[in-house]
Amino acid sequence: MFKKYFRYLVGEPGKFSLESRMYHAISIVISLTLFVKALFYQFTSLEFASIACGLFGLSELILYYLSRFKQQLKVAVTLSVLKLSLMHILTYLFNAGISGNMLLLSAITLFLIILIIPEKQGLLWLAINLSIVFTMLTLEYFNEDILQQIYQSRTEQFIDLGVTYLTIGLILYTGLIILRKNYAEQKMLAEEKTAKLVQLNQEKDKLFSVISHDLSSPMTSVKIYLDLLDAVDLEKEERSSMTKDLTQSLGDAQNLLQNLLLWAKSQMQNSQMQLEEVHLRSLFNEAVELVEQRASKKNIQIHIAMEPKLKVVADPDMLELVIRNLMNNAVKFTKTGGEISVSAVVADGHCIIAVKDNGIGIAKAKQAKIFSLQIVSSYGTNNEKGTGLGLMLCKDYTERQGGKIWFESEPQQGSTFYVSLPVVVS
Ligand code: ADP
Repeated sequence: MFKKYFRYLVGEPGKFSLESRMYHAISIVISLTLFVKALFYQFTSLEFASIACGLFGLSELILYYLSRFKQQLKVAVTLSVLKLSLMHILTYLFNAGISGNMLLLSAITLFLIILIIPEKQGLLWLAINLSIVFTMLTLEYFNEDILQQIYQSRTEQFIDLGVTYLTIGLILYTGLIILRKNYAEQKMLAEEKTAKLVQLNQEKDKLFSVISHDLSSPMTSVKIYLDLLDAVDLEKEERSSMTKDLTQSLGDAQNLLQNLLLWAKSQMQNSQMQLEEVHLRSLFNEAVELVEQRASKKNIQIHIAMEPKLKVVADPDMLELVIRNLMNNAVKFTKTGGEISVSAVVADGHCIIAVKDNGIGIAKAKQAKIFSLQIVSSYGTNNEKGTGLGLMLCKDYTERQGGKIWFESEPQQGSTFYVSLPVVVS
């Protein structure tokens, strides 16, 4: 509660610069401690000091108001530093000269100058501060009688120096704590940005390597095939076997291209996601059609168990990509004669889709990186080549749609990938 209120008085980090927040915090501390000092001086013979402290405290509050609520930071800071300088001249003249608290006050004014004055003016203010202090010191050194009012009692001296030191302690504490907090915040921001940049760079590298290797090889195959067709008379069987290989290879390339295009689209800043009601069963029927040929080549059975009318809230293109990738992987990493079962159940307003296979599973060491670009793609049970992009995209897309994706896998026993999305209640 107190913290929240203090934050409001000092100014929100997003709306106020570090310098102004520091000035506001210190200004509040200065005015409060000046009022406390004024009160203390009431109990000593330093009545003049008491009135002066009250007036200085009040003027500090006005300057704080100018900066915090009227956005006049520069004026407020300049007047504040001028006022503080005047304060230590007066302290010197009327409060025990150099043996009073003038040096402490000068030092804290210098601290404030370094903290909040614009860098360009720093040297000028340093010169002013040093000149005041050294003029006083020299004056007193050559002119012993210049001393005006000395403490009347040891109690007075105790109170005066004590309260001054308290003020200074509080100002130092407030200023440095704000600086340290700001430093920690900036450091965290910088670390987050670096991590994001590293990730972006990894994505870029991956993308280039995928494009250069995986898209160029099907193109080369097509070219070789066409060259052969032109140069040699192929037997019917040879031709049919080559056409099949080529169709498979072009199918992979098309799949990859679709992944890449959708991903590129989603990376564009203005890309809009269209969340709508998506009929799950139809989406799975299409995905099964796409993998059917490969599955039957390996003699893999695919079972689907879900309520026929089930609908989820999703972007149809994105969800299609997720499901296609999961089905593709299931077929790719399941051995001949294996089984894939797809199911969808509703729980707590969410639909949990599961794609389960009894394939080769995922090695424990690999599992932690499965959704990242650091994963090293492995060959399928029929030597099908992959890119290591699919699951990263699945995670990205599922999360963008407000869903979750996770998996369970036992090496040599199989894997189940789950996707949870909001369900449409009919
Ligand atoms: P790709 O399949 O193109 O290699 P993915 O990102 O889809 O890329 O998958 C990354 C890796 O995760 C695969 O290379 C494979 O090692 C593992 N993997 C994914 N799905 C399965 C699965 N159903 N069974 C076994 N391993 C899988």
